[in-house]
Amino acid sequence: MIPNIMKFVLYCRKSTESDDRQVLSLDSQEKELLSLAERLGLDIVKIFRESKSAKAPGRPVFNEMLKFVSSGKAEAILCWKIDRLTRNPIDSGQIQWLLQNDQIKRIQTFEKNFLPNDNVLLMSIEQGMASQYIRDLSSNIKRGHRAKLERGCWPSRAPFGYLNDRATITIVIDPVNSKYVIRAFELYATGSYSFKNIAEILCNEGLKTKTGKKYFGGNVYKIVNNPFYCGLMRRDEKLYIGNHPPLVSKELFDTVQNVLHNKNRPRVKTHFFPLRGFLKCENCGCSLTASLKKGHHYYYCTNSKGVCTEHKTYMRENSLYPIIASLFEKFNIDETLVEILYDSAKEKLGLDNEYMKSILATLQKSLDALVVKESRLVDTFLDRQVSKEIYDSKILEIQNEKTLLTKQISDMKEKHAMKISTLEPTREVFLRASRSSKRFLLADDIEKREIIENIVWNLSFKDQNMLKYQFKSPYSALANVPKNADILTMRKRRDSNSRWVAPHRLSRSAH
Ligand SMILES: [Zn+2]
Repeated sequence: MIPNIMKFVLYCRKSTESDDRQVLSLDSQEKELLSLAERLGLDIVKIFRESKSAKAPGRPVFNEMLKFVSSGKAEAILCWKIDRLTRNPIDSGQIQWLLQNDQIKRIQTFEKNFLPNDNVLLMSIEQGMASQYIRDLSSNIKRGHRAKLERGCWPSRAPFGYLNDRATITIVIDPVNSKYVIRAFELYATGSYSFKNIAEILCNEGLKTKTGKKYFGGNVYKIVNNPFYCGLMRRDEKLYIGNHPPLVSKELFDTVQNVLHNKNRPRVKTHFFPLRGFLKCENCGCSLTASLKKGHHYYYCTNSKGVCTEHKTYMRENSLYPIIASLFEKFNIDETLVEILYDSAKEKLGLDNEYMKSILATLQKSLDALVVKESRLVDTFLDRQVSKEIYDSKILEIQNEKTLLTKQISDMKEKHAMKISTLEPTREVFLRASRSSKRFLLADDIEKREIIENIVWNLSFKDQNMLKYQFKSPYSALANVPKNADILTMRKRRDSNSRWVAPHRLSRSAH
């Protein structure tokens, strides 16, 4: 045996698995390992004995041992099997860290000697994170959650309308979104609104997702179906009493459940108003509501704040259509021009394509050359023609160069694919936009609603006049396109808008 001046710690841990062939008591592990140490001439400076299972991190003796090693009092570990050290990711991470920093120079097990750059060692450490650990962990988490729930604490992210207060580890009311939750319950309890209606109403009242999108009916369903809001917590069908402040009363929650499950549900008046949800009162900011009188649709301010003078103004739907259609005239573009621009842009991309192909070929050639260079260097090193230092620095250089080239190639390909994939939709958007004014007037009620939904919102009225409106993207940009712009410029404009409406949504309402 090689004489060894390395200082070893001896670590033994009892396995708890009965199917382990090598179950040995702590005493016999220690005895066997000590005699091995003697045979190999290892210098044992300290013995650590652990009786806890390694599956859960935080074994006190294990940590003590790592401290001992990382403080430099020892640089090698003697243990029964590698998996004694690495039954969970935290432990194995610590071991790997010490190996990488050269603070552990050797790990000796009963069967094998491992050195830090030994791949087998690293692999065994990875495998040491036995799948059993993962299983135990998830059931431990579940157990932990149940205990928390029983204490009235919600163990997960706060539902919509609440926030997790990290400082006090409690659930607190979200001052912004809680009002939408309450509103959703109140609206649904009336039995007059569908989930989709409510989502629309809340959207008009300012509710948006973090990314600025609309909430869907499904989100509303989730809210009114969650007993969390009346102070209860449901997990795996079981109810717990929560410590958090409720947003709605139990009575309101129960009413909603009755509506939800169709018990004594009031008759829902479901009349389709094409413009409902898009119109606002300029005077007080409320959404306009609609009603059906003598076969005609009328829109008016509900005066929900009680201060509006506009609420006696009834606007007939038919008179609103030409006003809206005139908005869409802003998109009128000479369609022949769009086609010409499209063709020339396509041609330009074709030229780009040739150019890019040649560049890609050059890059690929350099990359291939590097691969050859790399394998030659490995050969030279294996033949001992170059020193380890030179090899290390050269190989690093080559690998870095390879990484950069590969990135450059993939970036180029991606950029080009993007260009091609957006050209056609751009043309479509322009053509459709250009036709939207005519299309709108000819469309039936449902199509009208779809067209408006895609293009414009917040149509604000006073004295029967439209005073304000907001185009949605990409139409907000299209409305301002200079008439001599080329299609690539137009596309940039279109793409510079974040709320881009996918073209397939537009095409649905095309015919
Ligand atoms: Zn009003």
